[in-house]
Amino acid sequence: MDIGGTLGVLGTVLDLLKWVVAGYVVLLWMASVIWTYRDIHARTEETLLQVLGVSLALLIPFAGLGIYTLLRPRQTIAERYERSLEEEYLRHDIEEQFVCPQCQRGIDHEYILCPHCHTGLRRRCIACDRVIDLTWAICPYCGDDGSGMVGRTTNVRLPHVSRSDHA
Ligand SMILES: [Zn+2]
Ligand SMILES: [Zn+2]
Repeated sequence: MDIGGTLGVLGTVLDLLKWVVAGYVVLLWMASVIWTYRDIHARTEETLLQVLGVSLALLIPFAGLGIYTLLRPRQTIAERYERSLEEEYLRHDIEEQFVCPQCQRGIDHEYILCPHCHTGLRRRCIACDRVIDLTWAICPYCGDDGSGMVGRTTNVRLPHVSRSDHA
């Protein structure tokens, strides 16, 4: 085999290698464009921004992708939607913090029974007339235990102004 023939083979191999590398680079470039296309569509519905994003990746290979990731909208549409749902849920939670344990309808925190299903929610202390929890044996405001054994505690007691009008 002469030198000319060897160089010829080498040239062909190098040529082939060049094409393989070029093809690989083009493939990566196209992939970056496709990725950008999908990404921008997930982040905005504005056509102008979509075209701009894809153009960056298409016209400035690879570097355009970097610029795009810096400038793209921070949240995707799905993330924004999720966030708005969360906020809505929180607002709803604050508005309807007090619900009837029986019928789950909204009630005022001072109700002593549910206006919808008439379930007893709280009771009035027979001594001080304040609304207290049904499960509390002793009124936390005046110390009355509802059993007539008043004065058992060392608390200073309020006058029995409303003992007569308890329900
Ligand atoms: Zn109810
Ligand atoms: Zn009381």
